Amino acid sequence: MGEAERGEAAPRIRVPFYCANKHEVVPSFANEAAVPHEWDCPRCGFPAGKDPQNPPAPPRTEPYKTHLAYVKERRSEEEGKLILDEALAKLRAERAEIEAHMKANANAN
Ligand SMILES: [Zn+2]
Repeated sequence: MGEAERGEAAPRIRVPFYCANKHEVVPSFANEAAVPHEWDCPRCGFPAGKDPQNPPAPPRTEPYKTHLAYVKERRSEEEGKLILDEALAKLRAERAEIEAHMKANANAN
């Protein structure tokens, strides 16, 4: 545009907006009348508002989670951890066995 360089651009006002993820975006507007109520955060796409203490609620992209769904999710997490613990225990047992063999061989020599 080149307007800013000449210093002749119409004064623009910069208004900070804050999204629910605490991102700050500061778009500029031609005048106060052009300032929208909300601004889309370019970083996360959430709506951003002018009050940093009270940003607009993020859009609900996933369906409401029932308590049961939440419990199920937690349970599968715990199951996943159990499986991992089992796998680790098996791995450690195998390693201990190998080490025992090696020690036995070393003693044999
Ligand atoms: Zn954001």
